[in-house]
Amino acid sequence: MTSTLITNIGELVTNDPAMGDGSFLGVAHDAALVIEDEHVAWIGPASKAPPTDAREDIGGRAVVPGFVDSHTHLVFAGERSAEFAARMAGERYTGGGIMTTVTATRAASDTALRVHTAHLAAEMLASGTTTIEIKSGYGLTVADELRLLRIAGEFTPETTFMGAHVVPLEFANDRDGYLDLVCGEMLATCSPYARWIDVFCDTGAFSAEETRRVLAAGIEAGLLPRLHGNQIQHGPGVQIAVEFGAASVDHCTHLDDSDIEALAASDTVATLLPGADFSTRSPYPDARRLLDAGVTVALATDCNPGSSFVTSIPLCIALAVREMQMTPAEALHAATAGGAAALRREGIGHLSVGARADIVVLEATTFVHLAYRPAAPIVARAWRGGATSPPQ
Ligand SMILES: [Zn+2]
Repeated sequence: MTSTLITNIGELVTNDPAMGDGSFLGVAHDAALVIEDEHVAWIGPASKAPPTDAREDIGGRAVVPGFVDSHTHLVFAGERSAEFAARMAGERYTGGGIMTTVTATRAASDTALRVHTAHLAAEMLASGTTTIEIKSGYGLTVADELRLLRIAGEFTPETTFMGAHVVPLEFANDRDGYLDLVCGEMLATCSPYARWIDVFCDTGAFSAEETRRVLAAGIEAGLLPRLHGNQIQHGPGVQIAVEFGAASVDHCTHLDDSDIEALAASDTVATLLPGADFSTRSPYPDARRLLDAGVTVALATDCNPGSSFVTSIPLCIALAVREMQMTPAEALHAATAGGAAALRREGIGHLSVGARADIVVLEATTFVHLAYRPAAPIVARAWRGGATSPPQ
């Protein structure tokens, strides 16, 4: 067992209200923290730190829990910058470009997909993300969905089967046939490689009835439900997520009062994806309304080549503060503890004794700089599971 003291922490965000100032962020000053192997073993005033094998003085910088990005589509090939440029010239986002990525992904080798995913995962770690969820959904054949989930599993245990992303072109005249495949052979082949089941429940994607069918089949196969909903238009996504006890319903751009009431009365997290709203020039969700109603909110990137080619949680925090009426403290909490809640994980998203040592040192004296200095190289260094990663 090796132990490392991280000391001279000017501002430590723990997300533990029992620590420090008693706020929901549990902010302590002049603090120190001990890592033992993969976990946090001690937290307290720097002056009372116990002896350790190694010592790191971080010079008064701020420390926050590693970001939990609970919604990505990281395994894919190609890019869609022309589609982005067309949208910025006035075209509307419809989700129709997904097949472009499906075609490129099917044509890519395992090695090419693996190298590309590793590149994006490294970009995420460099911006402070220590946990990622990854969905399939750019294969849409039994063999390709399996391939994507196996590669995703090399990067994270939080893998999601999303055969119900869109209906592929070859099934354009046979939706039911595709759903039979998704709920039958594809699910049976993929479920050993996934923890979660997800469906794109929205205009132009899957209907309420189709969504219920896929979620029920996934649950029957032992997967846990989560959902894309209410992105493009108001629809039944939030209500279905709550009905199925989903861990999270993601996007939540178009909500009515009954959606907010249903979320507030449930354990389902509302995961907001401001990178997608930014990249599709869409309205942002009203995070203020959700928070004021008592809904648990998470922030994630939705990293994908079509609607949100964003790997940076600090950018999402800045957008959430500027455009979604969240305070810097609420946005940081949503990107850490909120993401952990959206993945139903207890040992991440906070810094307490026993938590995984996912630790981000900011090139700043306070976490507020995450929103205050958008696009600055804000992460000085990070530890993931107690292992240090070099600065950028
Ligand atoms: Zn998504």
